[in-house]
Amino acid sequence: MRLTFLGGTETVTGSKYLLESGKHRLLVDCGLFQGVKSLRRRNWESLSATLGGLDAIVLTHAHLDHSGYLPLLHRQGYRGPIHCSAATAALCGILLPDAGYLQEEEARLANRLGYSRHHPAEPLFTRADAMNCLERFKPLATGKTHRIGPFEVRLTPVGHLLGACAVRVTCDGHTVTFSGDVGRPDDPLMAPPEVLEPTDDLVVESTYGDRRHPDEDPQQALAAVVDDVARAGGVLLIPAFAVGRAQALLHLLHELRRTKAIPALPIYVDSPMATRATAVFQAYPETHRLDAAQTRALGEIATFVEGPEESMALAGKVGPMIILSASGMATGGRVLHHLKVFARETCNTLLFTGFQAPGTRGDAIVNGADAVKIHGHMVPIRAKVRQLHCLSAHADHVQMTDWLGRMSKPPTRVFVTHGETHARAAMAAHIEESLGWPVLRPAEGDRYRLPDD
Ligand SMILES: [Zn+2]
Repeated sequence: MRLTFLGGTETVTGSKYLLESGKHRLLVDCGLFQGVKSLRRRNWESLSATLGGLDAIVLTHAHLDHSGYLPLLHRQGYRGPIHCSAATAALCGILLPDAGYLQEEEARLANRLGYSRHHPAEPLFTRADAMNCLERFKPLATGKTHRIGPFEVRLTPVGHLLGACAVRVTCDGHTVTFSGDVGRPDDPLMAPPEVLEPTDDLVVESTYGDRRHPDEDPQQALAAVVDDVARAGGVLLIPAFAVGRAQALLHLLHELRRTKAIPALPIYVDSPMATRATAVFQAYPETHRLDAAQTRALGEIATFVEGPEESMALAGKVGPMIILSASGMATGGRVLHHLKVFARETCNTLLFTGFQAPGTRGDAIVNGADAVKIHGHMVPIRAKVRQLHCLSAHADHVQMTDWLGRMSKPPTRVFVTHGETHARAAMAAHIEESLGWPVLRPAEGDRYRLPDD
């Protein structure tokens, strides 16, 4: 077998790993490059030459940096199956069409305002492209071995996001396992990652290779913020990622309310995608750690806002109340309308709950900007600004080495991928030091023989 790294090596985006045996070819993950322009530009390169003749694609999970290139590959002619867990397929059914729609919107806006170098500006892919590729999805049961040509494939849940799994591939008597993104053992929503079965080679992520999560109880931290807002009679506006983070927040708010740790303020979820993702959480109860009552509560604790009129009407309501709205870094979506209204008042609080990428409005606000530009106008930030750092969906380096160390047999080699340069180097060093396993840091385009002989 041969393994080629086609993305997700020195960056956390664009994961694509190609396995070949004779004339058979299997692609593990099919992610978009995201972030800075030089990376995003790479999504426009056709991979039809590199990835021609694929037998199948297997996804670790639904995040776009692992699945978002699928509509493009479909447009380039790929018609084979796309395998993943059932929950991953369901989430891709939400995330990919939404990504296509946003690309079309951006192209429309660029054409209207004339800010693109390209005339006309084209979307990277469309909602229709995404819908077409969804027809190729063939979910696989987790914890069972499936045969795809000469490859035996097994999916093992690893927390992180609903449906996220490590992918174990055996071929020619050799096994390689791709961790995908690995969750943390103390995630409020997702079960801890299952221990991996023995494998010859292991490809492991390193997003948090150089970080430890703060020792902060997310429930207590959230309760303090909600209490503050209730006392001030203000609005708590939470820009939240619609898939995963929004459900984690709903769950924490439900637990706080159930134990009477916070007053029963009205809660609004103003994100159609968060509403649909919440329904997927309810449809796959076996893939997360909530019991039946807690799962039901996700849908009952909040008012799910539907149309734009209802969304606009929230601006006229008086606090105290809580509004959860996407996007999580305030780069787009309905949360922008709410920021325009609620960021101006000192009695309100803006609560950011995830990593804020440099250059985003969220990053500017958490770093103390007096004002941010929204829809062409400067909006003053007079509301209190808070950030919860304890809701990350990735294992930190200690959690990662603890989890790896529980494998019954060490792998022969570990390829550390999916991390910014510093994080990846740090994770590699932690694995070498605490587990004593041989570690490699592949560069993009690198090709390895499995086994190495
Ligand atoms: Zn992920």
